[in-house]
Amino acid sequence: CGNGIVQAETICVVGVGYVGLIQAVGLASFGLKVKCVDLDACKIEMLKKGVPPIFEEGLDEALKETIARGLITFTTDIAAAADADLFFVAVGTPTSERTGNARLDYLDAAVSDIAAVAPQDAVIVVKSTVPIGTCAGLQARLDRDHPAKRLQIVSNPEFLREGTALKDFFNPERIVIGGAGESARERVRRSYAAFEERGVPMILTDTSTSETIKYAANAFLATKVTFINEISDLVETVGGDIDQVARGIGLDSRIGPQFLKAGPGYGGSCFPKDTLALATIGRRHGVQQQIVETVIRINDSRRFHILKRIESAVGDKLAGKRIAVLGLAFKANTDDVRDSPAVDLVHALLEEGADVRSFDPVARLAVDHRSYRQCDSIAAACEGASAVLVATEWAEFKSFDFAAVEALVARRYIFDMRRIVDVTADWVPRWDIERIGSPLMRASL
Ligand code: NAD
Repeated sequence: CGNGIVQAETICVVGVGYVGLIQAVGLASFGLKVKCVDLDACKIEMLKKGVPPIFEEGLDEALKETIARGLITFTTDIAAAADADLFFVAVGTPTSERTGNARLDYLDAAVSDIAAVAPQDAVIVVKSTVPIGTCAGLQARLDRDHPAKRLQIVSNPEFLREGTALKDFFNPERIVIGGAGESARERVRRSYAAFEERGVPMILTDTSTSETIKYAANAFLATKVTFINEISDLVETVGGDIDQVARGIGLDSRIGPQFLKAGPGYGGSCFPKDTLALATIGRRHGVQQQIVETVIRINDSRRFHILKRIESAVGDKLAGKRIAVLGLAFKANTDDVRDSPAVDLVHALLEEGADVRSFDPVARLAVDHRSYRQCDSIAAACEGASAVLVATEWAEFKSFDFAAVEALVARRYIFDMRRIVDVTADWVPRWDIERIGSPLMRASL
């Protein structure tokens, strides 16, 4: 195999969603043979044909190439992977409405399925984000139910970002491997040998530490986002330029420039769920995570304040007004709409009786409502709109010439929740423009 990786193990990836598919295609791109298992027959059929069920830059080509090289296969039947000795599990761990913690039913089912077919001494690597103590619990269960197989659980949390997932897979900033036994950890470490040779830091630790690293990392990033959002509210009132404030503090290497972009609040499938889980875990253990709890409260209320702001901009009543929402994905370069601020906004606007038209270059919403239409162009979404909301930071919204829709809108008003609209453009003086972090710029022409 190329790139310094030696195929020491037969690899299986269970759950090929945003994380599992990238892991599988990434490992296969290194020349490793990977078998992929997922319960979703539709997904597996698409993948067999080389069609990615998700949108990720470079995935289409990488998938087709690894299939053509015979390095990756797809099945719904775990028994087809019975010869594997390293099982990466990347099934979902969504929030439990009842407890606020991460649901473990998919993981429990996947581990049971693996244990039933896995050979002796196989290693089960948990890539899913799981509450602290989960891997230790799984290990105890395997030791009790399958003692003769000597199966081992290893925690190996994932840090990729949707939108740059493949790039992140090939350029990790660290790899965390947690396990009770040295031998299992070493076997997982070997599958990442190419990265270690390149000097990527490896953190070899116990499972609890590994699980905590993942939650602490996401909670810290969510806190950073929430912090700059509060500062942006202040700047909006007292004056100043929030982008320069962010740059001014981000250049301090103790702070760093990332996750300092004022916006509508964090969303997506990870930050909301992981902050909530961490807060729940803290309370359960009597160690309240007060910062994280405050961050969750501030972030939740932010969406309500944004709605109020739009309401007052269009004249208090949204009922019957047409609103254009540009962007549905929770961030640019992904089709993921889970817990997206834009999607919450669409729902809130519909509840207020607005007539909503949206446009997103790739994301689609499974919403069927008589006052909601998904359009195939920015212009179609803007037709008759009393407000144009920029909800996702797609590049094509940044560079869009809004002069092209001036004659189509009912009112020239943009609410830029992402601060991406070029406020130096020629058309800007003819529009009222409101941006998070800045006072309203009234049309002057
Ligand atoms: P996803 O919903 O996109 O994919 C999960 C997949 O698992 C689905 O295809 C589902 O059909 C499959 N599945 C469920 N139960 C199964 C079973 N018993 N056997 C086989 N397949 C099964 O989820 P995701 O976004 O890839 O996230 C997976 C995990 O990784 C979560 O714990 C998440 O918190 C974590 N994570 C996600 C990201 C991200 O950016 N999406 C980043 C880091 C960590």
